[in-house]
Amino acid sequence: MFLIEGVSCPKGHFTDGNRLSCMVCGAQLGPHLTRYQAARPKLGDLVFDDGRELPLDGSYLIGAAPPSHLGTRTVSLADAGDNHLSIRLDGWTVCVHNLDTTSGTEISYAEGDEFHGLPPGAVVDLHPGMTLRLAGRATITYRGRDS
Ligand SMILES: [Zn+2]
Repeated sequence: MFLIEGVSCPKGHFTDGNRLSCMVCGAQLGPHLTRYQAARPKLGDLVFDDGRELPLDGSYLIGAAPPSHLGTRTVSLADAGDNHLSIRLDGWTVCVHNLDTTSGTEISYAEGDEFHGLPPGAVVDLHPGMTLRLAGRATITYRGRDS
């Protein structure tokens, strides 16, 4: 279990006290809410175009043949580069690290937006509605918290 500091929104969701609004319901957060430590909730899901959904409750290595690391789950994605992306949680933030150097990674910053190339080695914070496209084919969309 990973403990994290946060606040309760007016509806009782445990959320990031450094944001203006609750990550779940969008309720405004005042500056005077009590901060406390609790287990980090699932920060949403990764939704793949092949129908798979992975809970964002830990780190992942994604690719056609990702290496196994202690504490990091691997996700096999045949259409991607061998070790294409790492996705990890940093506090309340979902970070993607582009490990691909050959087959290409693109990102769309909002649903329906065009894709932009992501250079090798780039690190980007993911926000709900953003989509990654690997090797011009497979897509992964970040669906935000619903609880
Ligand atoms: Zn809320």
